[in-house]
Amino acid sequence: MKTVQIAIDGPAGAGKSTIARLVAQRFNYTYIDTGAMYRAITLKAMQSKIDLHDENAFDFIDQTRFDFNNGILYMDDNDVSDLIRTRAVSNHVSLVSSYFTVRHKLVERQRQMADQQNVVMDGRDIGYHVLPHAAYKFYLTADVLTRAKRRFSENQLRGIHSSLEELVEEIKSRDAFDSTREHSPLRPANDAIIIDTSAMTIETVVLTIETKVREGEYYGV
Ligand code: C5P
Repeated sequence: MKTVQIAIDGPAGAGKSTIARLVAQRFNYTYIDTGAMYRAITLKAMQSKIDLHDENAFDFIDQTRFDFNNGILYMDDNDVSDLIRTRAVSNHVSLVSSYFTVRHKLVERQRQMADQQNVVMDGRDIGYHVLPHAAYKFYLTADVLTRAKRRFSENQLRGIHSSLEELVEEIKSRDAFDSTREHSPLRPANDAIIIDTSAMTIETVVLTIETKVREGEYYGV
């Protein structure tokens, strides 16, 4: 079966997960949050007291189960959505996801999921690396302050304490690390549609993407 793949990339806090989740609902596709997978692996490594600086310590990924249900990631059958959003995980996830072995193992899983079902997949390298043949590719950006404010509200909803200044710094340093790393750095695919969401509502962004996909369907992409 040929599946439909919608890739959504962009920096931290650009609105990817909110948008991707809604787009997936519109089309009844599975939403795969790849950032959540990198976060979950970071969480598991921290819980197991693994040395995060040892790139060779991540073989446990092969024995780890990932399932997405209604946009929620279950790792080894546990809902980890809240635990993976803590500051401790946010501060270490860029290091863990810079390792080639970690990326290789997770990308393989992501491709398998996209082979089995229609997906909306969000991340940093989806359009140019994980799913280079995706029919639809989008790259969402927004200025740093807007992104930090969005994370601030998300954290408030989740009951996670944070300050706006800290979030600006966290986002800046994660962006810098993610875009300059050696393996699969953050960047748009050459054929991605770039959307600056700073002054757009969620609904307008979702509608922009939905319209492009419906046009594609109409013309038989
Ligand atoms: O999307 P989110 O901000 O939750 O992603 C957390 C981190 O996971 C990113 O800062 C990045 O280091 C890493 N990531 C990645 N490749 C992806 C998705 C996320 O390296 N496809």
